[in-house]
Amino acid sequence: MLGFVKKYIRRSAAWRRKSFRKTERLIHKLRKQGLSEEQVADYFLHDNLSRKEKKFCPLFADGKKCHILSGDRLNCLGCYCPYFSAEVNEKDGFIECGLCTVSSPAARRAVSAKNPKLTVLDCSMCVIPHQHSRVWEILNRDFPRANG
Ligand code: SF4
Repeated sequence: MLGFVKKYIRRSAAWRRKSFRKTERLIHKLRKQGLSEEQVADYFLHDNLSRKEKKFCPLFADGKKCHILSGDRLNCLGCYCPYFSAEVNEKDGFIECGLCTVSSPAARRAVSAKNPKLTVLDCSMCVIPHQHSRVWEILNRDFPRANG
């Protein structure tokens, strides 16, 4: 089981790092082009991003969306999820891999097919990092402008 946990942490961290860097590079490029912060945030709206940055997400090629949002617009800037933590908690013989730091009500735990005492965080039903209304918070927190 230790092997699985180590692999989980390694893979989660690697995926998140890769996804974060991809977003960071694009933000940097847009700022260099002179876009305002509002324009940068809007650029990441799914309808725009899927037309202009076709390689940003593998779903774009098939015209698919990871989530359907009601009452807000789907924004891809927070795809790496700034609220995810790849930590592991062990208690009473049960092991939980992955933590939602904002306690999303949509967060689920998927039970391992090989070990019923092992669960991993399942974010598939959560739209929090994709809400356009949250993008300011994410942009300012994780991608502040170098000159403030
Ligand atoms: S449940 Fe939602 S907010 Fe929490 S870590 Fe997963 S995607 Fe992020």
